[in-house]
Amino acid sequence: MAALLSVSDALARVLDHARPLPTERLAIGAAHGRVLAEHVRSLVDLPPFQSSSMDGFAVRSSDLPGTLKIVGRIAAGRPESRDVRSGEAIEISTGGVVPEGADAVIPIERVVVTGGEVEVPAQHPSGDNIRSLGGDVRAGATVLEQGARLTPARLGALAACGIVDVAVHRVPRVAIAVTGTELRPSGTPLERGQIYESNGIMLESLALATGALVDRLAVAEDTERAHRSVLETALTADIVLTSGGVSVGPHDLVRRVEAELGVEEVFWGVAMRPGKPIAFGIRGATLVFGLPGNPVSSLVGFLLFVRPALLAVQGDPDPAPPFLPGILSAPARQRPERDDFVRARLVRGADCIHVMPTDGQESHMIARTTAADAIVEIPRGEATLEPGTPVRYLVL
Ligand code: AMP
Ligand code: MG
Repeated sequence: MAALLSVSDALARVLDHARPLPTERLAIGAAHGRVLAEHVRSLVDLPPFQSSSMDGFAVRSSDLPGTLKIVGRIAAGRPESRDVRSGEAIEISTGGVVPEGADAVIPIERVVVTGGEVEVPAQHPSGDNIRSLGGDVRAGATVLEQGARLTPARLGALAACGIVDVAVHRVPRVAIAVTGTELRPSGTPLERGQIYESNGIMLESLALATGALVDRLAVAEDTERAHRSVLETALTADIVLTSGGVSVGPHDLVRRVEAELGVEEVFWGVAMRPGKPIAFGIRGATLVFGLPGNPVSSLVGFLLFVRPALLAVQGDPDPAPPFLPGILSAPARQRPERDDFVRARLVRGADCIHVMPTDGQESHMIARTTAADAIVEIPRGEATLEPGTPVRYLVL
C-alpha cells in the first residue's frame, strides 16, 4: 500500500476535486434542501406597510389616557382610508394597515369599550404595537446569500419577500456499487460463508440524507467481468461509491478495474482506523470513492470524505465534517500510526457533552454501532487519553 495520507490531507484532496455542480432555476416550492447559487434580494419592503402587531385600537398617543370615539374598523387585508384624528380611535386587527394619523395601537386587553367609545386608562408610547415598514427587511436588501441551504424557515422567508424562483445547484447523482461474492440480500437463506449485504442500504440512506439522488446497482460478485459491468454504469454518475474490494487481497478488484475504465487514482490508504484502505479517484468530473467493505469502515469513510464531497458539489461553502467538542469519559489508548474513530455514546453534562466509547470497536461490528450516537476522534499518538480529555466527535 502507498504511504498513508493523514485524514486532513486526504480530505483536502477530495475537496480539491469536488467542484459545485451546474445550476438550475427552480420554483421555491421545489427547492427545499438545495443550496443557493446566487444572492437573493427581497422584492418588497417587509412588512410592506406599517402594520398592527395586536388586535386593538389605532390611536394618537398624545390623546392618552382618554376616552376616544370609535370611527372605523380595519381588518387584515382590509385597509381604511380614513385618518385617525384627535379624540378618535379605529379598531384594528393584527396585520391591519395602521391608518394615517395613528401612532400607536392599544391592545384590546388594555381598554374598556362602551357603546361607540373606547376608554384607554393608561399612557402608551408612540410606536407601541406598530410594526414599521421594512422593519424585517427592505426591498433590495439581501435575504439569503449564495451558499445558503434552503431550510423550511428560509423558504418561508423567500416566499415572504416575494421570491418566485431561485438559482440552485443541481442534485448530485450517486451510484452505489457493492462488491462481494459472499453477500446475500436479506430474506434469502444464508449458506456457509455468506453474510447479509448491509452496506448498500446504509450508504444509500447516508447519501439520501446528504441531498443526493441515489442509484443502487446490483451487487457485483468478485470477478473482473462483474465489476466491469457494474462500474461502467456507475461511472456515468456524479459520484460513485463502491463498497468492498479495495484491500490488498487477490479478490480486491475494484481499483484495478476502475483503472482500466479510466479512473485516475488520487489516493489509496488513509492513516485512520477503521477504514484505512479507502480509495479516491476521478474520471472527468466524476468522483469515485472506494469504501472498504467492513461496514463500520464504510460508515466512517462516508462521514469523513463522501459527505463533505457531496456537500461541496451541492455548493455548500462549509463542507468539512461538523466535529463538535466533547469530554472523554473513559480512557482511550491512542494508536501510534493512525487516527482512531471510535463509536461512542453521548451523555449531556451540566456544561459539556461527555463522550463514552461503546463496547465492540472492531470494524465488522455494525450491530454494536446501534448503541452509539457519535464517532469520536482519538488522534494518533503514544498516550492513553484519560477521562476528562477534550475530544471531537461527529454525530451519527
Ligand atoms: P472487503 O473490503 O471486500 O475485503 O470486505 C471486508 C469485510 O467486510 C469482509 O468481511 C466482507 O465480508 C465484509 N463486507 C464487504 N462488503 C459488505 C457489505 N456490503 N455488507 C456487509 N459486509 C460486507
Ligand atoms: Mg470483498
